[in-house]
This record gives sequence, structure tokens and C-alpha cells, in this order.
Amino acid sequence: MPDASPDRLKETLWSPFVDEDYAAGVRRHVASHVAPHAERIDRDDIYPVEIMKGLAKAGLSTVVLDRQHGGQGLGYAHAATVCEELSVASAAVGVSLITILQAQTMIGRFGRDSLKARYLPAFAEGLLSSYALTEAGHGSDIRQLDTKARRDGDDWVITGEKHFITSGSAAEFFVILAQTDIGVSVFAVPRDAKGLSIYKGPNSATFGLRNGPHMNVVFADVRVPLDHLIGEEGKGVRQAVTVLDYSRTMAAAISIGIARAAFEGALTFARDRVAFDQRVLQFQGIQWYFADMLSEIDAARLLIYRACTALDRHEQIARWSSEAKLKASAVATDVAARAVQVCGAYGVMENAPFGRYLRDAKAYEIAGGSSEVLKNTAAKFLLAAAGLTAAPGARRA
Ligand SMILES: Cc1cc2nc3c(=O)[nH]c(=O)nc-3n(C[C@H](O)[C@H](O)[C@H](O)COP(=O)(O)OP(=O)(O)OC[C@H]3O[C@@H](n4cnc5c(N)ncnc54)[C@H](O)[C@@H]3O)c2cc1C
Repeated sequence: MPDASPDRLKETLWSPFVDEDYAAGVRRHVASHVAPHAERIDRDDIYPVEIMKGLAKAGLSTVVLDRQHGGQGLGYAHAATVCEELSVASAAVGVSLITILQAQTMIGRFGRDSLKARYLPAFAEGLLSSYALTEAGHGSDIRQLDTKARRDGDDWVITGEKHFITSGSAAEFFVILAQTDIGVSVFAVPRDAKGLSIYKGPNSATFGLRNGPHMNVVFADVRVPLDHLIGEEGKGVRQAVTVLDYSRTMAAAISIGIARAAFEGALTFARDRVAFDQRVLQFQGIQWYFADMLSEIDAARLLIYRACTALDRHEQIARWSSEAKLKASAVATDVAARAVQVCGAYGVMENAPFGRYLRDAKAYEIAGGSSEVLKNTAAKFLLAAAGLTAAPGARRA
């Protein structure tokens, strides 16, 4: 009888896009430290503090951070591998990582040296962070914000409120957007800054990507030093979109991790389940479902790792990241829904993981940039390529 264990299935179906030893190490870490807790994190809607601190210790939350600041100095394919493998077990852990990567990217790309020296090494020690753009009245469109920042002597003073903030229940550090006199700007704000508070609002509980409530974060005259303005005053939208362009490829990897989990679960079920005197997997109609799902997952994975090359080279990142997230998030939702179908009643049971996969996959068609916004970004690239606009500008909306 050929070996059809879950590990063998993974190795046969999804060869890594980085060296095998690295991917195998990540899979081992996920199997022992993440997978056993995935159901509980989702059910109880809790932020996985210990798991995230463990990832930092293992160097898995600072994959692309440069060595000078305590990171691993690896490329984006390695980071995507971590996001993908984590999310086969738990997309909630995947999104907990992405908010950390977003803060690292913002500070690493745009922060002053003093800010880099102060905060980047802390990520290697396990600093937990959130990326706070959205407000009650501003989601896709962040060109004008109600959260304000004004200069007062040697400080910036921030007032306002952010909504839907992933990882906000445990974050020790926030990267936020606020409006100054000359435009939207980015600020670093430690959790213990006086006047910063969080609360669980009426919209904090989501049906998917449940890594703790998506908190409301209140800034009541919060003061931060001048060097906590990240990058250039008034250039915050551009910077925020650049960071999203990086994180969207990682979000795509999370989506495809969900798709893989749903696919593997359904394949194992269809192999073992008997109906009309044969295995469900022996029905040709069911095989066609799997063939479709496999080719869609493979296509999305190729796109994601192509996007990683673009990120490493800083080339057309808006295009590749948007395409990767657009494709991977749709594939994940389709595969999760099809997996439920293949498993029949067992797919619908609360004690099966397929509902979680479907909820997480659907939520990621909105969080981090909705599919419509991603299409706008791809279209802007096309208009520029066709010579109808000067440059592929890519604001978030
Ligand atoms: C699970 C989850 C986690 C989140 N985590 C965070 C977080 O950590 N930090 C944070 O800042 N935000 C977070 N968000 C908020 C998220 O970024 C926004 O939900 C997202 O940007 C969309 O904004 P919106 O929900 O306000 O929708 P809107 O912007 O109000 O859009 C409503 C609909 O209109 C469409 N639409 C909007 N503009 C256009 C356009 N120009 N062309 C075509 N269609 C358009 C949208 O695609 C959508 O279908 C999270 C959201 C979710 C669901």
C-alpha cells in the first residue's frame, strides 16, 4: 500500500519554492506549536500570544528583516513560505504575523535611523504589533482621515479612533495613519503611550480571521516624539499603499494555505469515504472537482512566488501583489466551499474544520484590500502600460 499519510500528501502535492530544509523546518514548527491550537484560537477568538512569541524565537517573524536589526535577511519567498505553512494550520496565526510584518516593513523602508534602532530589534524579541489605517468612516478610501495629528513643541499629538484593528487586543506597538495639516501621515505609537486605549466595539467580532477581536483603538491626545513620524509628512497614503503592496503577497500566501488545508482535508475524506460501493474519490465527477481545485491552487501559488521575486527586486510590486491576493483569496473561498460539498454532511459539521476555512477565506477577500480595490490597482497598471496614464499610481481605493 503506498504511503498516503498527511505528511506524504503535503510533500507530494506542494513542493516548496524555497530550499526543502527550510520549508521542512517551518512545517515541523507548525505541526508542533500551531496546529494543536488552531481550533481553540478560532472558537474562543483569542490572540495567540505564546505562539507569536515562539515564532519570533524561531526567527520566523523576522524572515526578511535585515540581519543588522536582528532579522534573518532572507527573501520574500521564505516569508511567503512561513505565511503559507502557518495558515495551512491556522490563518488566525497567519494574520497575527502579517500585522507584525507590516510594522517592520513600514519602519524598515521609511523610518528614521533612530526609530529603526529603537524598534526593529524588538521584533526579533517578539514585539507584537498592529497596522491601523481604517476608521469608522474610511475603509478603502484613506485619502482623508478623521484621526488628526498636530505638532506641539517636540511632540506629535494624535487624536482620533481606529476600527477593525487586527491583533489590536495584544499589540504592544501600533503603526497608524493620521491626518496632519498637509496630509495623511504615518506614526509609530507604543501601546503604553499615555492616552492610548483599546476597546471591543460592536464591530470587533468577525466570523473569519479570528485572532482576537478586531479592536477599536482610541487616541486621546497621545504624544509621541518627533522621530515617531515615519517617512515624510503628507506622504502617508503612498507609504501605506507600498506597505500593503508587500503585505498583500503575504496575505495571498495565507489564503493559499487555507485552500491547501481545505483541499487536503477533502481529499483524505473522499479517499476514505465509500458510497455506491466505491470510494468517493473514484467518482469521475469528484475527481474533476479535485483537478480543478489543484490547478487553481497551483496557479495561485505560482503567482504568489512570482510576486515574491517582484518584491525582492522592488519591481512592479503593486501589480504582482494585487494579482496574487486577488487570485489566491478567490481560490481559497472556492476551494473551501467545494471541500464542504465533497465532504457532504461531514463538511458542514461544527466539529469539522471546513467552516473555519470558508469563513477565513471569505474574510480575506475584504481584509487588507478588497478584491474590487485590487482590480483597480491592476487596472491602473494596465492603463499606464497602455499609455493612457503617466504612471501606475496605486492608492488604496
Ligand atoms: C477581518 C478584517 C480585518 C481587518 N483588519 C484591519 C487592520 O488590521 N487594520 C486596518 O486598518 N483595517 C482592517 N480591516 C479593515 C479593512 O482594511 C477594510 O474593511 C477594507 O479596506 C475595506 O474597507 P470597508 O470595509 O470600509 O469597505 P468600503 O471601502 O466601504 O467598501 C465597500 C464596498 O465597496 C467596494 N469599493 C470601495 N471602493 C471601491 C472602488 N474604488 N471601486 C470599486 N469598488 C469599491 C469595496 O470593495 C467593498 O465591496 C479589517 C477588515 C476585516 C474584515
